Amino acid sequence: MSSRVPAVTPTPTPYLSAHRWPTPAPHPPLHYWLTRPFRPPAQVWASPYYPYGSNGDGRYLVHHGADFPNPEGTPILAGAEATVVFAGPDTREVLGPWAHFYGRAVVLRLTRQYQGRPVYVLYGHVRRTFVRKGDRVHQGQVIAEVGQEGIAMGPHLHLEVRLGENDYNATVNPEFWLTYMPGHGTLIGRLVTPDGRAWMGARILLYRVQKGQPRYWTTVPTYLEAPGIQPDPLWGENWLLTDVPEGEYVLEVAGVSPPLRRRVHVHAGETLFVEFVVPR
Ligand SMILES: [Zn+2]
Repeated sequence: MSSRVPAVTPTPTPYLSAHRWPTPAPHPPLHYWLTRPFRPPAQVWASPYYPYGSNGDGRYLVHHGADFPNPEGTPILAGAEATVVFAGPDTREVLGPWAHFYGRAVVLRLTRQYQGRPVYVLYGHVRRTFVRKGDRVHQGQVIAEVGQEGIAMGPHLHLEVRLGENDYNATVNPEFWLTYMPGHGTLIGRLVTPDGRAWMGARILLYRVQKGQPRYWTTVPTYLEAPGIQPDPLWGENWLLTDVPEGEYVLEVAGVSPPLRRRVHVHAGETLFVEFVVPR
């Protein structure tokens, strides 16, 4: 951890949101509008160790984005047609919790709007930028290259989606905006109480069923309560697993007795919503 980062929140045991969690809309729309920020052989999926709304098991600040580790200098591609609203060092204009948090960044305002609200995409910790404020960019255009500026530990891209305004406290889960990888689907859901509070900092476990045997696949924490961490306004989720290979799975809420499990089939190119209700 960089010495410039003062505050680290320890991993909490699961706790309840202070208020009722937003309820999903009846038929919320999908918005996989952004192509991946990299092209293979660069890593095109986000690191599972520090997902949106988590603190990386107590090691870091609550994460407002998703991280893509790649070597310094790897070209970063615009996810959609957009206008550049920021490009350069964030020393004077504060983009994060304090100045020089992202070191150097590009912020795009997409041409498309979501529910009548502007959508901003931030590419942070970049080494060089290749666009200027006011530029129009097209999907796939090289806009910057990977660096480790600001508070980054090691070279990676920090990707953020901001809804409604270009503000650190207006983020949503960026992985929910990235186009599917071929052969993969998305699991999204809520872990709530019967009266609609969210369980925060809990763990959802995913087992892949192969030859009838469930084997541990991955885990994802539910979002932590922090300013600027919020669900999609129409989906009301508090956890998300993207890039899940098509197949049979068992989802399980960690630490609940008797066990709370759900068998699901993930189809390529589909999004499956799963709600778990756990009393206080
Ligand atoms: Zn990050």
